[in-house]
Amino acid sequence: MSQESFGPESALLVVDVQNDFCPGGTLAVDGGDTIIPVINAWMPRFATVVASRDWHPANSVHFTNWPPHCIAGTYGAQFRAGLDTERFLLVLDKGTGNADDGYSAFEATSEDLESWLHGRGIEMLYVCGLATDYCVLQTVLDARRLGFGVTVIGDAIAAVEVNPGDGQRAQEAMEAAGARFVLSGQD
Ligand SMILES: [Zn+2]
Repeated sequence: MSQESFGPESALLVVDVQNDFCPGGTLAVDGGDTIIPVINAWMPRFATVVASRDWHPANSVHFTNWPPHCIAGTYGAQFRAGLDTERFLLVLDKGTGNADDGYSAFEATSEDLESWLHGRGIEMLYVCGLATDYCVLQTVLDARRLGFGVTVIGDAIAAVEVNPGDGQRAQEAMEAAGARFVLSGQD
């Protein structure tokens, strides 16, 4: 992989690499943990690395659609071991309300991500993490709507696939919104 560093206008956004979305978790994504070394390899190339996490109350309408997952303060909500969390400049908590799905990192309640990025002159987001067809998708669509350039790291995401093909359809929707997809070593 190229180790070229990106300029200060670019940031890496790591979406929801948490225990409950990894094998053994309550809402496990196939390959949810195999992306971790890929993500770690990208981190040193950025001055700014931001992470989001699902951080749900125990009782949430969100859990009428999903098995309970990532309940604030529990093991399932912790970042997966092996993820290089020391590089996170900011951690965004989302889905923190009882009626709040919080799929997008731009819906985080702990920080206004859009303002935070603007305050640092960041215009380009590289996005990776879980899951392609929900939180990655909604984060990317919000980022494009807000005018950020977006590159999705195609080998550093994984899909839930409630319906087969959801991951592919999510990629098409992100590309239609103007996001670019790259693979490690081909960026
Ligand atoms: Zn959730």
